[in-house]
Amino acid sequence: MSKVIMALDQGTTSSRTILFNEAGEILASNSMEFQCQFPQSGWVEQHPEDIWTTQQITMVRALSEAKLTMKDVAGIGITNQRETIVAWNKETGEAIGKAIVWQCRRTTDICENLKKEGFGDVIRQKTGLVIDPYFSGTKMHWILKENEEAKSLARQGKLALGTVDSWLIWKLTGGEAFVTDASNASRTLVYNIFEQTWDQEILAHLDIPSDALPEVKGSSEVVGYTNLRLFDSSVPIAGIAGDQQASLFGQACFEKGMVKNTYGTGCFMLANLGNEGLISSHGLLTTIAWKINNEITYTLEGSIFIAGALIQWLRDGLKLFEHADVTEAMAQSVDDSGGVYIVPAFVGLGAPYWDPYARGTIIGLTRGTTREHIVRAGLEAIAYQAYDIFNCLQKDMGQSLPMLKVDGGATANNFLCQFQADILGVDISRPEILETTAMGAAFLAGLAVGVWPDQNALRTIRKEQRRFSPQLPAEQISVMVQGWEKAVNASKNWAKD
Ligand code: ADP
Repeated sequence: MSKVIMALDQGTTSSRTILFNEAGEILASNSMEFQCQFPQSGWVEQHPEDIWTTQQITMVRALSEAKLTMKDVAGIGITNQRETIVAWNKETGEAIGKAIVWQCRRTTDICENLKKEGFGDVIRQKTGLVIDPYFSGTKMHWILKENEEAKSLARQGKLALGTVDSWLIWKLTGGEAFVTDASNASRTLVYNIFEQTWDQEILAHLDIPSDALPEVKGSSEVVGYTNLRLFDSSVPIAGIAGDQQASLFGQACFEKGMVKNTYGTGCFMLANLGNEGLISSHGLLTTIAWKINNEITYTLEGSIFIAGALIQWLRDGLKLFEHADVTEAMAQSVDDSGGVYIVPAFVGLGAPYWDPYARGTIIGLTRGTTREHIVRAGLEAIAYQAYDIFNCLQKDMGQSLPMLKVDGGATANNFLCQFQADILGVDISRPEILETTAMGAAFLAGLAVGVWPDQNALRTIRKEQRRFSPQLPAEQISVMVQGWEKAVNASKNWAKD
């Protein structure tokens, strides 16, 4: 029997296909970028056909790179940009209008009205989310209000509204399967994560007909087969998860209290909550991590808006260096940040401060401040922000969290990983394969088709590349953290009249 698993990682800027073998090694990887459109200020769209075509091309290319065909693939796992919504005609399979991307702010007014109506509590208690244009619900409402074709199809029961996983599976199965998984459903704003149903009260409030929504499946089960008109073999589609949840799974964070943080443009920190969801007291989001064998695992999620983006700004805005990879040596060339703190509140501050009026601050400058101090303060700022979220998770969960697993582009930086371990006072574990998102999708699919017998088998497949242990004394950390808190206070409220 074949033991090759194909992971489709459909992201916001590119589609990627990675082939994994039974040992979790990458056999081939192919990715292709595609365009976003910005038709108005704050609007972000993509062509649904681009999403599908680029994904399909990378599948073909990855197979050819590995000298394999679909006949060699045991199962397909899908992970995807979350919350982005596609509308299509269930009869013809044709997309209606553009995909509305998670970043799109076009439903800001709709959200403001929902908040004014006092609907926020209902949303929070049933979905674990907050009212924000980010999530799919108000995007679906917008399509049904603004797009005549969608409106008319909805009246005839022929409209499909789905997240990107649903769209890809529809395409892959030639329209046979109209499904999503619990992790993707939990990001739509219309799924009751505790009762595990599309929530009729919320759907009615947003005028979304439930027959336009996909069936919600488990994250690790066969939901359909690839259509023979597309490929030479009918391969089971056996794993689905939103990108951050997939990365939690790919990091083998299977038990309650296990946490991962992805350091990319921003950061996404997720903690495994076990089988019981809880609503955060610190504005973090409660989401379904995955549903396996009918059992739900919940996760608590905190995000940081600006992380690696701060390093990009130091590079492109301040022109302090040419390549991000020199920041490690620059930071290590000085003993400390020389008392400099950067608070990268470029777009306000998220958890636990929730201040949309905060703005970026560089504070503590003296005549002795050098470029190196500023670069070091930039990297430290990423770690301090993660420290804040980590503490929120600990408070919400009422337990101390034993370690942090990390991934994402910025974790190539050893200084950042070491500083993060020092500030948190826990070990940081960096895996060999940083493609944890694709790996998670592969794990979910491989479990369902028997490439791996159980989650235990996956623990050894995720290999640690390096561990960073805390080295600084607690008193020193406490002084440094106090400095961070003072700097955050200085950045608050800046943009308020
Ligand atoms: P995304 O998926 O959000 O595009 P990636 O995981 O590819 O992000 O990571 C890219 C981000 O990581 C960029 O913002 C970049 O500035 C940052 N980055 C890359 N290499 C380093 C490094 N060596 N040190 C610090 N930051 C880095």
